Amino acid sequence: MKLFSLFSQEFAIDLGTANTLIIQDGTVVVNEPSIVAIDWKTGETIAVGTRAMLMHEKTHENIRTIRPLKDGVIADFQAAESMIRGMIGMLDTKRRFFTHLKMVICIPSGITEVEKRAVFDSADHVDAKEVYLIYEPMAAALGIGLDVEEPVGNMIIDIGGGTTEIAVIALSGIVCDQSLRIAGDEFTRAIIESIKKTHNVLIGERTAEQIKIHVGSALPHLENPPADYSVNGRDMVSGIPKQVTISYQEIAECLNEPISQIEEAIVKALETTPPELSSDIFRTGIYLTGGGALLRGLDKRIADRTKLEVHVTEDPLQAVVKGTGIALKNTDKFTFLIPRKSI
Ligand code: ADP
Ligand code: MG
Repeated sequence: MKLFSLFSQEFAIDLGTANTLIIQDGTVVVNEPSIVAIDWKTGETIAVGTRAMLMHEKTHENIRTIRPLKDGVIADFQAAESMIRGMIGMLDTKRRFFTHLKMVICIPSGITEVEKRAVFDSADHVDAKEVYLIYEPMAAALGIGLDVEEPVGNMIIDIGGGTTEIAVIALSGIVCDQSLRIAGDEFTRAIIESIKKTHNVLIGERTAEQIKIHVGSALPHLENPPADYSVNGRDMVSGIPKQVTISYQEIAECLNEPISQIEEAIVKALETTPPELSSDIFRTGIYLTGGGALLRGLDKRIADRTKLEVHVTEDPLQAVVKGTGIALKNTDKFTFLIPRKSI
């Protein structure tokens, strides 16, 4: 038995559009952006995660940086596999020859059967022997400490990079859910467009991301407003580098449209919730997870729109991986996990 455990490994992965996290024995051991840099000529992996992100939008023709996931699903299989391998390679382990590798992987709830099979296939390619999938809202609910097996309805909204998942969970199942392809990446795009229009300046994705973090806002008036933020880009008229200063009000304005779409989806999800569960949600409120939950004023905006209490979990970026880690310890108990053989 001892020998067996020596060669056995188990971990849980949150394969997100923006970030990939791996948890092992309750500790987050990998937390990296979901990106890989590949040598265009040889096909070799040059870097994964943060190191690859540093190269993003700065590459020459021999190097390509790829974000293998799009809208929550694997869009580039080869790149995804290189990325997963690279991230597993970061684990602090002296033994790479696992006799038994057990994994739980988190997937968006809107995923198709074909896409599920693709996730299992990637796990096969890293030689995983026992693999389970878990739906993201379920993992998020577990991660924030909700008892998902109870006959009580809870609404979870996970705003990630590619997708926003809105789900009502009760009795170990997802009762109703909405998945929309408007989330952090869409906010970033809106920021790039707005800076282009109002300042005639072109900025890259990474700069837009920094703007979102420093002066991102869902409301035009905040109680604790952040200071203005200066960024450098390229002047569209003169072509030379230029600095512009951005206020949170400006960002609130350009994010209004995508946020409204998320709000509409939340209202629609509430409308389709069975009445007994609605009454639970009236009491328990809405739980926000995912990086998008960190956007200033978003909780207040959703609370104003729905008249419900909105809770932002302590570390929204890690809720899903923590829940996936809890699932890993309960694979024999949780009926909502999807084993390999069922696909
Ligand atoms: P995924 O699960 O899809 O990988 P995450 O839950 O990791 O996504 O969230 C990533 C998204 O959250 C990115 O679009 C990122 O820009 C956004 N994000 C991270 N921090 C903040 C912040 N402080 N304010 C607004 N958005 C943020
Ligand atoms: Mg996620």
